[in-house]
Amino acid sequence: MANDERPTAIVTGASSGIGEATARQLAASGFHVVLGARRMDRLAAIAEDIDGTALSLDVTDPDSVTAFAATIPAARVLVNNAGGAQGAEPIADADEAHWRWMWEANVLGTLRVTKALLPTLIASGNGHVLTVTSIAAVEVYDGGAGYTSAKHAESALHRTLRGEYLGRPVRFTEILPGMVETEFSLVRFDGDADRADAVYRGLVPLTAQDVAEVIDFAVSRPAHVNLDSIVLKPRAQHSATRAHRD
Ligand code: NAP
Repeated sequence: MANDERPTAIVTGASSGIGEATARQLAASGFHVVLGARRMDRLAAIAEDIDGTALSLDVTDPDSVTAFAATIPAARVLVNNAGGAQGAEPIADADEAHWRWMWEANVLGTLRVTKALLPTLIASGNGHVLTVTSIAAVEVYDGGAGYTSAKHAESALHRTLRGEYLGRPVRFTEILPGMVETEFSLVRFDGDADRADAVYRGLVPLTAQDVAEVIDFAVSRPAHVNLDSIVLKPRAQHSATRAHRD
């Protein structure tokens, strides 16, 4: 890793979906990409494809994050993407294990990874932290409180950094996607493919590649240009609760 001439970009949750597409896109744009996630077989295959580096990472485990960060000597870009949803039960039936996982992965995971890597990003002279939150960071919906509360908190954490690091050589961009067809819904509904497919039925959702290209655009702006937040949705989606389906 040390002898690579390419600048380094770190992508968490790079074993599938938005993270995988982002890793591939940033590699195509000239970055050496460090890919982090738990499923090492998938991660290693993607890393090999793009001449990147696969590192085991569980953002819910502080020791794992410490070991991950210690392996990365220099980096310019961090994409906080690891996370997701579990369950969609109303608050009256809230499953605390679901809530705990969503807060650990989306909120504390982003906190840990960002905290560990910010000094390295700033030392590059042109650091950039991009956090993939969601439209769930600005909306609420019935059955979604575990996820929306976690994404609201992740967003607050990310936006606070913009102020705390003002004047330092680091940019902060929040990416807020609407519906993207990935493994997200399969994970949310515990492998129930019919329920997951129903989320995207009758409309054209965003692809992971659509989001990756937007991330790449933000990263490739000149150093003085900070895209603070980018909301992107399918044309057929108005909000978290309203979409046009054929
Ligand atoms: P996905 O295909 O399920 O990808 C989730 C990624 O996160 C996987 O690579 C997974 O890898 C990783 N991950 C999960 N827990 C982790 C942990 N503890 N440590 C490290 N990595 C972990 O879903 P996706 O749609 O691409 O989701 C990516 C991000 O986009 C998430 O933050 C999600 O909330 C957000 N988002 C998704 C949508 C959507 O509609 N799909 C919309 C808005 C925002 P391993 O399982 O291998 O660890």
